Amino acid sequence: MQNPSNKPHPTPQKTRLPKTHSKKGKPHQFAFRNADNKKRGRNMKLVIVGGIRPDIINLSCLFQELQNKKIDFVFVWTGQHYSKNLSEIFFTELNVAPPKYMLNMPEGLGQGGQSGFVIKEIEEILLKEKPDAVISFSDANPCLAAITATKLGIKVIHLESGLRSNDFRMPEEKNRRIVDSISDLLFCPTRQAESNLWLENVHPKKIVVCGKLIIDVLKKHEQDIREAEKRIFGNDELGMLEKQDYIFTTLHRSENVQSKQNLQNILTGIGIISKKYDKPVLAYLHPRTITAINQYRIKKPENFGVYDPTGFFDFVALEKNAFMYIGDSGTCSEETTYFNIPSLITRPTTERPETVTDGTSVLVGKQDGTFNPETFANKTREALNKIPKKGLYKAGTANTITRTLKEKEEWIRDDKVMWDD
Ligand code: UDP
Repeated sequence: MQNPSNKPHPTPQKTRLPKTHSKKGKPHQFAFRNADNKKRGRNMKLVIVGGIRPDIINLSCLFQELQNKKIDFVFVWTGQHYSKNLSEIFFTELNVAPPKYMLNMPEGLGQGGQSGFVIKEIEEILLKEKPDAVISFSDANPCLAAITATKLGIKVIHLESGLRSNDFRMPEEKNRRIVDSISDLLFCPTRQAESNLWLENVHPKKIVVCGKLIIDVLKKHEQDIREAEKRIFGNDELGMLEKQDYIFTTLHRSENVQSKQNLQNILTGIGIISKKYDKPVLAYLHPRTITAINQYRIKKPENFGVYDPTGFFDFVALEKNAFMYIGDSGTCSEETTYFNIPSLITRPTTERPETVTDGTSVLVGKQDGTFNPETFANKTREALNKIPKKGLYKAGTANTITRTLKEKEEWIRDDKVMWDD
């Protein structure tokens, strides 16, 4: 599918970083500047770090609100997602200015390499920018910039805090717990996330329940999504595609796509459902999933169309009109609950439990993280019968976050602890 936007992609600015390594024998400098700030009455300054597709999508609304409230921030892109379809397209579509710093994370790094890259590379930027706080988003490796920040004495603010799947096979679950444990201010999307933090003895004064940024993004772009729907369903762009007449799939989690057995069983399960309900599958797969399918010689079901990742508006237009969603994306399970689209989540647990208890999702993974294609397919009826709770998700999250940042500005610029009042 074509990039629906005609706007040119932004060219990120490659900023030369100063040499910050200390001379032999001298300790590294700290980035503290709070005392100075107060004296000079300077506004607070934030560094926001992202590096993968959902980061830029979710943060797009926050950037707008920060600008509206005249909060000074610098955006750093770690470059974990670097291809046009996984990053640039979202900057263009969602009208996000190019990041001030664009790190070139080398391709093919493992978990350790990616984590190490973020932790190391962000240090020079923080020493140069001297922010009052670093904002980390969610649970992918870019959020580990929080580790560098806290070691430099810079406050850490975590967005999408408190999510817990309790599935320790997930690298994301480890990141969530690490970052939450060192954060000074934790913005939770739900009350459930807040109680998870209470159970881990996070001081209640550090926690703010604010809702989900993705709902702001979906609301803000309703018209763009409607236009994408008209393009896709109005003029045969995908060859006579009818609303509610296809199964919509994404797959990218390492537990699923780096296991030959899991990947094969998931595709077989999808194939059973596709055959039973006579619906073709549109699978918008992450590049590493496509590589794994080829490498492991996975047998694809009939009527299983593989597509490269696409832009947000086209993607959501397709998701919103699907017969059902099957896949392992956390954000997609929220979006399908919001749009009332039945979903089979190819995982044993979820860090977004409200999508199961009050939404449209059914978990189809076995407790040990494997899949039985027949049992998985038998859960389809349960998903089709689900009705999401009204008013589960509300917009206004970016406003709540920025309002809170303004309210706590003095504390953010100061080095007192929050409950020290
Ligand atoms: N998405 C997109 N194009 C695609 C696949 C996903 O715009 O081809 C969007 C989707 O609407 C959602 C987000 O990307 O907002 C989900 O990203 P992903 O599944 O990679 O991450 P997760 O939410 O699992 O962390």
